[in-house]
Amino acid sequence: MLTESELARYSRQILLPDFDIAGQEALGRACVLIVGLGGLGSPAALYLAAGGVGHLRLADGDTVELSNLQRQIVHDEASLGVNKARSAAQRLAALNSTTQLHVLAECLQGRALAAAIAGADLVVDASDSFATRYALNRACLEAGVPLLSAAAVRLEGQLALFDTRSGGACYRCLYPLAAAEDQRNACAESGVLGPVVGILGSLLALEAVKYLAGMQTLQDEVLMLDLRTLAQYRLRLQRRPECSDCGSGAAP
Ligand SMILES: [Zn+2]
Repeated sequence: MLTESELARYSRQILLPDFDIAGQEALGRACVLIVGLGGLGSPAALYLAAGGVGHLRLADGDTVELSNLQRQIVHDEASLGVNKARSAAQRLAALNSTTQLHVLAECLQGRALAAAIAGADLVVDASDSFATRYALNRACLEAGVPLLSAAAVRLEGQLALFDTRSGGACYRCLYPLAAAEDQRNACAESGVLGPVVGILGSLLALEAVKYLAGMQTLQDEVLMLDLRTLAQYRLRLQRRPECSDCGSGAAP
């Protein structure tokens, strides 16, 4: 049951017929793990907290640097030198005191990663490296939790929801091999405009809210955005039977 205050606070989204009170209640019950509180994770976390997601687990092992402030809008000058998950939690607590926040101030691996995913309804990949994405993919497959993933660099971005429970593709079906050059710090090397990660991070929040509320989401497709021309493309996502993570190539 929503309180008077919740009905008022979330009234603009409750007005949507396919979201309604049931959608709001679903958000309130939901637990989302956000991996990366940088350029993508900032708007994603802000919108999920503002929209009334009940439990947010915030994971990031990095600290806020001056060059982050151009696009990582959940942080501010007072956050410099502070762990990004902690800094984000401070801002989100001020934004919505009813969202339960769990700070994971580390680069999640192995058992810590599995523990962070356990019990989550959705994992939001707002990370910046192939190594992290592959680790998330394997851990999400094992836990049976869908993985919503975005990436952005320069003026380009992409977004996909990997939900293998209904026969969908996994992240490694899309990228069987890591790119020769790991894209960690891709933004440092190639550059990125702030609003580009803002748009992709907002799309992460949008698809997360739609998924949690039981609305239609991006399915079996990768959305590719060329934000220089504002063109968008969609690639069909197909499960690869020989995939080394979800298919016959997987280790027993
Ligand atoms: Zn796969």
